[in-house]
Amino acid sequence: KAVQQSGKIAPYEITPIEAIPSIAAKLRDTFWTNKTKDVQYRLVQLRKLYWGIVDYTPQLREALMLDLKKSPHDAHVSEIDWTLGDCLNAIKNLEKWVKDDKDIDVALSFSMLKPRIKKEPFGAVLIIGTYNFPVQLNMCPFIGAIAAGCTAVLKPSESSPATAMVLTEIIEKSLDPSAYTTVNGRVPETTALLEEKWEKIFYTGGVNVAKIISKKAAETLTPVCLELGGKNPAFVTKNADIPSLHADSCGARRSTLVSLINMMNVTYEDFFPKGAKVSPDYARVVNVQQFDRLKAMLDHTNGKIVLGGEMDRDDLYIGPTVVLVDSADDRMIQEESFGPIWAILPYDDLDTAINTVRKVDYTPLLDDLWFEIRKRERLVVTPLAAACPLIVSNPNRHTVLNSITSGGATINDGFMHAAVNTLPFGGVGQSGTGSYRGKHSFECFTHRRTVVETPGWMDGLLRVRYMPFRAADLKQ
Ligand code: NAD
Repeated sequence: KAVQQSGKIAPYEITPIEAIPSIAAKLRDTFWTNKTKDVQYRLVQLRKLYWGIVDYTPQLREALMLDLKKSPHDAHVSEIDWTLGDCLNAIKNLEKWVKDDKDIDVALSFSMLKPRIKKEPFGAVLIIGTYNFPVQLNMCPFIGAIAAGCTAVLKPSESSPATAMVLTEIIEKSLDPSAYTTVNGRVPETTALLEEKWEKIFYTGGVNVAKIISKKAAETLTPVCLELGGKNPAFVTKNADIPSLHADSCGARRSTLVSLINMMNVTYEDFFPKGAKVSPDYARVVNVQQFDRLKAMLDHTNGKIVLGGEMDRDDLYIGPTVVLVDSADDRMIQEESFGPIWAILPYDDLDTAINTVRKVDYTPLLDDLWFEIRKRERLVVTPLAAACPLIVSNPNRHTVLNSITSGGATINDGFMHAAVNTLPFGGVGQSGTGSYRGKHSFECFTHRRTVVETPGWMDGLLRVRYMPFRAADLKQ
């Protein structure tokens, strides 16, 4: 890890494991004081959080640089401003979101029961985050928990320790410590957190840990929201208008595959005229373990590197890399790379491509899905969308949408479905369950509690409920 420059970020400090039961107990107790249910209290907390993030922006930028070598631009666009946007949206709309639903379709006789659906916070909740977007992936669900009126503990990923410490300080300095806190640590601390009773667990991360969490949650029937990962196939056809998208210099039309690889190379040159390694915009792999995992994927593929492939373990650098593979059994297709490595698998018809994606889907997942199909001809399936530069228009998009399931889908672009901060973001099947962002973050931590009130005078009308039953009460 790089050494801190400003001295403004505390060294990573693991929460004492023996403190975890009392932290959980405090959050449960605070919840039952009912203070977090007060809407004005929630708004104050959200405003304080907003200004805490604003005040700590320099530290967040530095931490993101330390943890991931994220550029300040990236830090703002995909992390800080992203999170502030979610916070502002909650502040702006909370009073509307918390209102009871009264517009309920009931029979006239039941309308006298004043039926309504109250928006109740779940209670004390646990949020466990991951490292690749360590600000937004932790804070956006946390904002949802505050908005819903829950008390909450955040467990940021130990793989992004500098950001974890800045988030810890923001929460400590800005929010009511009896209701909101962080726990830092690794597997033992997370395991200790899972030993506690939570009213909801929100987890972002990989499938294997999600299974551990789900099993633990099942013991107490605790609901979970799981935001997982997996493959993100893109479909590109022969007639995709690849050159017009980015690279005029792609020149005359060739087959899609050649144009695609050409265009990726031209785009690489555009983005990084002196190479990605010296670009101030290009981030690094988070740690040596992830570096070694990615390197092993490349070492074991039977594919051919058609772009990049440069690596430097000391610098945790892997350049943008594209591998042309010839079989869906290749490790590059079967495993999520979760790094700057894309695989291209050529196909001859759309049905085969769809079937391949369906087969791959049973272990990995379809979190976002981009595609372009103009004709059912030659296709390229590229798993893992990340920062892939293209994808074009799509008259046959319904075929793919109807043939493959995915958490979300972007047509003609990559990942834009996640950028719209009022749309629900979440997986399906192996890519997760539940969703959040905008109002959906509030709803993720909210129980819809049905309430009716029986006026005393109605009891006579409800006589049919009471024994002894009378034949006359039954409608023939
Ligand atoms: P990670 O190592 O940061 O782990 C995630 C969290 O799980 C951490 O807080 C960690 O402390 C905790 N954890 C790890 N092992 C545990 C255990 N044995 N018991 C309990 N808790 C444990 O990150 P990761 O899991 O490698 O994350 C990468 C995955 O996350 C990828 O699959 C990626 O696709 C997915 N992801 C999904 C989203 C999304 O929004 N759906 C976003 C980013 C990443």
